[in-house]
This record gives sequence, C-alpha cells and structure tokens, in this order.
Amino acid sequence: MENSFADIQYCEELFNRFYDIGGLTSGGVTRLGYTQTEDQMHEMFALLGGELGYGNTQDEVGNTFVGSTAREGCYLIGSHLDSVIDGGRYDGVAGIIAGLMVLRWAKEEGLSIPVRVGAFRCEESSNFGCCTIGSGLVTKASGWRVWCPVRARRWSPSSSAGATAWTRPRFPAWPAT
Ligand SMILES: [Zn+2]
Repeated sequence: MENSFADIQYCEELFNRFYDIGGLTSGGVTRLGYTQTEDQMHEMFALLGGELGYGNTQDEVGNTFVGSTAREGCYLIGSHLDSVIDGGRYDGVAGIIAGLMVLRWAKEEGLSIPVRVGAFRCEESSNFGCCTIGSGLVTKASGWRVWCPVRARRWSPSSSAGATAWTRPRFPAWPAT
C-alpha cells in the first residue's frame, strides 16, 4: 500500500501525543469520563485535527467532532477517549486515530468528503454502572432520568484485606427533566 510507512509513522505520533495523559506507572491509563483528564484527551484530539487543517465543534454534552462542518448528510466515524480505571491505552483511542487517518488521507488527496470524526464522552462509564453515556444522550437512546440513580464508584484501599476494593459513595442526583 502506497504511503504505508508514512501512515504508520503518523499513527505512532498520534499514540505518543495521547500517551502521557492519564498515564499510570502500571503502564495503563485512567481517563474517566467527564474529568479533567478526559478534557485533556479531547483538547489533544481537537489540536491534532487542527494540525490537519480541520476545525472542531463540541455538542451540548461535551462530545467533540473534527472534520466536515456540513450540517446534514455527514458520515460519522465515532469512538471515545475515556477509559476505565487502569484501562488500556489503545481501546477508544485506536478508533479516533483511525478516523484521523481518514481525514489525513482526504486532505492529502484533496478530497472534500462529508466525513466527521466524533469522540463521545464517558463511553467507558462502567464506573457509573452504565456505559456509552455521551453517544446515548445525543442519540436520545438515554435521557436525564436514566442517570438520576447513577452512583460513582471510587478506587480505595481495603483496610481488611490490604488490597484494593470498590466502594460506592452516593452521587448527587441530577436535575429532574
Ligand atoms: Zn471502548
């Protein structure tokens, strides 16, 4: 495949740009949804899109989109940039990088195609007992009422076993709709 070496180099650069955000000494990452760490991932995504010559937008729940600004008839390549606690580096990030590769190819070929890459918020949100929050909210698959009973789980030391265990502190109820 033509340009494959350059493509691999670009992929490696993209992984490196995201690498340190939320990085752990264990080698994994913790990039929980709707935290400053996830904000940093979205800021980096917007920056990388800008370096390719694309603008970005955010919707009302904080999902970030890079690419075509067409209001209708747009293809969407969607993934996420958050992780579970001590999660892997390549899960959602690989999807975003795949999307950026498509945008890069389009730019190189001078193609104006209606494609947009979307990073949905808080998709790996099993920490809250549910998942795919950002995409669920904007596609109306979920509503505010669904999230009212949500509880956050917190990583904390277990005094009895000397190991780590999950605790479930109460999470403030979200406003009723
Ligand atoms: Zn995932």
